[in-house]
Amino acid sequence: MTDLAAAARALEGAPALEVLRWAAATYPRVALATSLGPEDGVLFDLIARHDLAIDVFTLDTGLLFDETRALWRALEARYRRPIRAVTPAQTVAAQAAEVGDALWTREPDACCARRKLAPLAAELARHDAWITAIRRDQTADRATAAVVEADRRFGLVKVNPLVAWTSAQVWQHLADHDVPTNPLHARGYPSIGCAPCTSPVAAGEDPRSGRWRGRAKDECGLHQREAPPTAARLPVLDGVAAAGLRRPS
Ligand code: SF4
Repeated sequence: MTDLAAAARALEGAPALEVLRWAAATYPRVALATSLGPEDGVLFDLIARHDLAIDVFTLDTGLLFDETRALWRALEARYRRPIRAVTPAQTVAAQAAEVGDALWTREPDACCARRKLAPLAAELARHDAWITAIRRDQTADRATAAVVEADRRFGLVKVNPLVAWTSAQVWQHLADHDVPTNPLHARGYPSIGCAPCTSPVAAGEDPRSGRWRGRAKDECGLHQREAPPTAARLPVLDGVAAAGLRRPS
């Protein structure tokens, strides 16, 4: 078994490519869960150019911007490497039929649980480690993230190759390697998620303030590092456990 604390110490400050190579060599079942954001563009560029044995998938909530879908296709074409779609159990229409239209306007946590957390949990149950694009300076919750750490929430290892990077470093890498990016960034969207929950950000605002604007929510729940969710907060995860998948501990 890998000593994660020792690995994190050894890899702190290492180039992202070195961290990715380590993950690919250490974990046969490792995946990049890409949100198709700028940081994910860096990781996909490194994985594809260096032909690393790392599965790549994205959560297709059915509510992505058209520009995000176009970027998805552009990345696949540029690197000739597929980005697998992982989808929720229900279409948006089926969800509306069960719980009413536009759940995201009434209960965004429940909507994220259905459309993001449950399909991600199911996918991660098939992997030993996952690679994420989080950076320490993005949120207070992410400030203590290590390069390699146990993900108690999903029950596997989490590898964060860009954890010490700045936004400027990310954009420099994208420019240096001509990586396709989302045109919405130039229209005031520094952080892009589902279309109904993402709005432009004014100059000087926190880059993530356009996500779930006006609500006390700044995370989908995919990278929360506090206590894991309770069944009451994320009831859909009970279904995940009932289906025989690993439930966050
Ligand atoms: S980001 Fe919004 S639309 Fe997307 S899953 Fe979460 S609440 Fe639903």
